[in-house]
This record gives sequence, structure tokens and C-alpha cells, in this order.
Amino acid sequence: MASQRIRHIVIVGGGSAGWLSAGVIAAAHPGLKITLVESPDVAPIGVGEGTWPTMRDTLAKIGVSETDFFRECNAAFKQGSKFSGWMTGQEDDYYFHPFVLPQGYSETPLAARWQERHPDVPFADLVSFQPHLCAQGRAPKQAATPEYAAVANYGYHLDAGKFGLFLRQHCIAKLGVTFVQDHVVTINSHENGDIASLQTRDHGAIEGDLFVDCSGMQSLLLGKHFGVEFLSQKHVLFNDSALAIQVPYASDDSPIASQTTSTAQESGWIWDIGLPTRRGVGYVYSSAHTGDLAAENVLRRYLKETGTPDAGSPRKLSFQPGYRRQFWHRNCVAIGLSAGFIEPLEASALALVELSAAMLSDEMPATREVMDIVARRFNEAFTYRWERVIDFLKLHYVLSKRSDSPYWRDNRDPASIPERLSEMLALWRHRAPSRYDFGRIDEVFPSASYQYVLYGMGFRTEFNAADQRAEIAQMADGYFREASALTAKMLPALPSNRELIDHIRRHGLQKI
Ligand SMILES: Cc1cc2nc3c(=O)[nH]c(=O)nc-3n(C[C@H](O)[C@H](O)[C@H](O)COP(=O)(O)OP(=O)(O)OC[C@H]3O[C@@H](n4cnc5c(N)ncnc54)[C@H](O)[C@@H]3O)c2cc1C
Repeated sequence: MASQRIRHIVIVGGGSAGWLSAGVIAAAHPGLKITLVESPDVAPIGVGEGTWPTMRDTLAKIGVSETDFFRECNAAFKQGSKFSGWMTGQEDDYYFHPFVLPQGYSETPLAARWQERHPDVPFADLVSFQPHLCAQGRAPKQAATPEYAAVANYGYHLDAGKFGLFLRQHCIAKLGVTFVQDHVVTINSHENGDIASLQTRDHGAIEGDLFVDCSGMQSLLLGKHFGVEFLSQKHVLFNDSALAIQVPYASDDSPIASQTTSTAQESGWIWDIGLPTRRGVGYVYSSAHTGDLAAENVLRRYLKETGTPDAGSPRKLSFQPGYRRQFWHRNCVAIGLSAGFIEPLEASALALVELSAAMLSDEMPATREVMDIVARRFNEAFTYRWERVIDFLKLHYVLSKRSDSPYWRDNRDPASIPERLSEMLALWRHRAPSRYDFGRIDEVFPSASYQYVLYGMGFRTEFNAADQRAEIAQMADGYFREASALTAKMLPALPSNRELIDHIRRHGLQKI
């Protein structure tokens, strides 16, 4: 057993996590046998429509054509998020968290000069061209820009159901993944406690060397079989429910928003995602602060205000915010909802799936003997990442000045703020978030993201004299001018989001 080579990877679950993991591993390890088992009785969750720019790299690595992806997954470009109503709840209350770094971000500090000279201009609007592209509904590239290349950094909005099927087809036809459609009924163990095989209803036992649990929220292998503890985060992030609905556009040529819009409500927030043929809208809320009926009324009011009064019935989803104490236990690693889930405020779930699949693939243990070393490193890396996701999401609530409902007041209760976030907020009273706060490779949210949210939400730093030196101010002014010049250049040169997406659906993009 000790020197047993890892030859066969068995994945349970055919949602986005299962097929992304299968694709990433299969593309990098043609010598490994990969089998994915999916139950015909349990549908994938079918939500999860916003991604990060990392998805471009992931899809390119898997060998997917971006044109095919756009056509088959009803995909659209996403250039970041717009947060409305998070600070005061007033009409003019919004800020952007774009995907592009502030202009000159790695060269010189910008926040001190912004605060001194332009405190009335939203931070992101001064330091980046991207909020202006979003405000004008522009695409992040031109029709002649090749697949996956960008003029402005972008991720995607997509149809989650179609995405899983698209990846399935690609993984089976192009990457040699074996697909077994069957329900896993029991887990068979070796004497040492490792998983030996998955007992299926119709295909007998499927043996493997390493098992990837992508079984969704029930966490069939890691949670149910191994009993790895679930660490609830409800005391930090209260949201545990969602009402999701798909709504049509007013017409076929209605604009497609270039960003996810997240609009704060009395007991949560509403996501609004534009796909080519419909919008996906959902209210994420805390069941401790509102009821389902009241939540549905809030969702309907939002739909009415945004031009879709006659939508059908929303779908209710419940979840426990939190993650597992370990993600890799013995010869089993959990990826996706089986590892954990926190409200989708910054669309971090699929990004964590991509990061998990990438680390598993890059660090693929050669033998069972070395697997525990890789597992320990994997667990350490992802515990850190989950903690940082929680800090970052909580930041959006902590900085709010809203006190119009118990939800917002409870969210700012110091007892609900993680200690590391409180410490960082204390530091940021005197200096901007920097790389010293987020020093790891592949940080989930870099310091620039913290600056976008902090300064977007009206946080003020008492900068010291060093941050306000004349040469820094001069360099910052230069970068503000550069961002403004780029905005002026790009706005007329880029097609609208709708124009480019329609073009891709009809004519495709150039292959790289
Ligand atoms: C309201 C909401 C909004 C979200 N929005 C976003 C977003 O904008 N961006 C983002 O990145 N993420 C988002 N997510 C998260 C995202 O949906 C998931 O991370 C993603 O879909 C991956 O899900 P999964 O594959 O882990 O699980 P699932 O899709 O639930 O798949 C589970 C799979 O396991 C299989 N299975 C279960 N039991 C068995 C069995 N006994 N035998 C065999 N197979 C079995 C099922 O058949 C299924 O194929 C959102 C989640 C929710 C709840």
C-alpha cells in the first residue's frame, strides 16, 4: 500500500466542480485514468453564474475554444462588480470593484493622493478605466482580439446548467475522461481506512487510488463518510438562503450589463447577472433576519424597479455558510460545495474550485506514500484561502453605514468581525492595504481588491508624511491622467457588450 502508485482518479459529482476538476487533471496528466461518476437522481445545483478572470486561463488550459464556450454556455463578459446601496442605501450610493488593477498600482501608492486631491471622485473611477467601460456597457475587447486575450481584464457570466454539460462533452470527447452515470450507494474501505472503491447501484464497485469528492453540499465522501467537521461561519456571515429567478430582457437587443450588480437590501443583497438571452437575478438573505415571503416581496420589488414586473416563481436555495476543517483526508479530496460554501458576493466559489483543481493537478502525488504530505500542504493552503474569503466578504458589511434594519446593525457588531480583519482595519487607519498584508502566491483577493472596497465604501486612512511626499503625489497624478486617457481612448474603440457577444455567437473569435 505504502508505495502504491496513483494511477486512477475517481471523481464523484458532475456539477461545475466535478467537470472542471476532471478537465484540469486530464489535460495535465494524460497518463492518469480519470473516471467521473454522476448520479442520474441528483441534479447539479444549477446556479453559479459569475466567474473570475481566472476562468479564462482554466478554460484555455483544458483546451476549450472560447467561441464554443460563448455559444454553448450562453456566456457573456464580466468586468467586475458594481455594489449599489451598500454604504447608505441612498440613490447615489454605488462603487465598482473592477478586475483591472489601479493604473500604476505596482509602481506607486495612489490612495493618499486620491484622498487628498480627489476625495469626491469615486476611488475606482479615478484610478481605473474599467468602471467607465462598465458604466457605458462596453465589451472588454474587440472582435479582432483573439480568444482569451483581453484589452480589459475579464471573467464571465454563464448558464451554470449548460456549463456543466459543455465541460462534460469536452472532457469525454477530447480528454478521455470515463463517464459513469450511476448513483453511489456506499463507500468501501481498505483496512487502513482509505477509500477502496465506490459502490454504485448498477455498475458495481469503482476502484480508485485517489477520490475527488465533488458531490455538492451533502459532501458524500469527506463529510458523510469520513465525518470531517464542518466549520460554520454563520456568526460572521449571516446569509443562508437565496431566491433565484431567470427573467427575460425587454427585447433581443437590450444591453447586456458588463458587470455583476449587487444591490443591498434590508436583509441581504440581490445579484443581477446579464446573459445574452436572459438575466439571472437572486436575493441572498439571512433567514434569521427575514422570512421567505418578505424576501420574495423584496425580489419582486427589485424586478419591478428594473423593468421585469411579471417574472415567474423564484427557486429557493438554502445553505450553511462554512467550510470543512480539512479538505483532503486520507485518499480523498473535496472540491466545490462539498468543501464548503459562503454567500456568492464576490463569486469566489468557482474560483476556489479552479484553485483547488489546479493545486491538485500541479501537486498530484505520485504514490500513496507521499499523498499525506501533499494533503497537509493542500489543507493549509485552502484553510488560509477560506479565511481570507470570509475576511473579504465581511469587509463589505463592516464598512457599511446602514443602520436601517437589524441585519445591517448586527453585521457591524464587533463580535461578528474576524480578529485578523479587525487587526487589518486598525492598520489601514494609518496606511493603505499593501502586499505586506497579503503576501502569498495566489492570494484570493490582492491588496488592490481591498483598496477598491475600502475606499469605494468611504473608508478614510490617516496617511503619514511619507505617503504624501511630493514625488509620490506627482507620480500618482500621472497615473490618474493615464487612467483618464485610457478611458477616453477605449470608450469609442470598444464595441458594446451586446455587440461583441452577438458577433461571437454569429462569427466567432480568432483562435490564438
Ligand atoms: C445561490 C447560489 C449562488 C451562487 N452563485 C455563484 C456565483 O455567482 N459564482 C460562483 O463562483 N459560484 C456561485 N455559487 C456556487 C456554485 O454554484 C458552485 O460552487 C458550483 O456550481 C459547483 O457546485 P458543485 O459541482 O460542487 O456541486 P453540484 O452542482 O451540487 O453537483 C453535485 C454533483 O454530485 C452528484 N452526486 C450527488 N450525490 C451523488 C451520489 N450519491 N452518487 C453520484 N453522484 C452524486 C450530483 O449528481 C451532481 O452532479 C452559487 C451557489 C449558490 C447556492
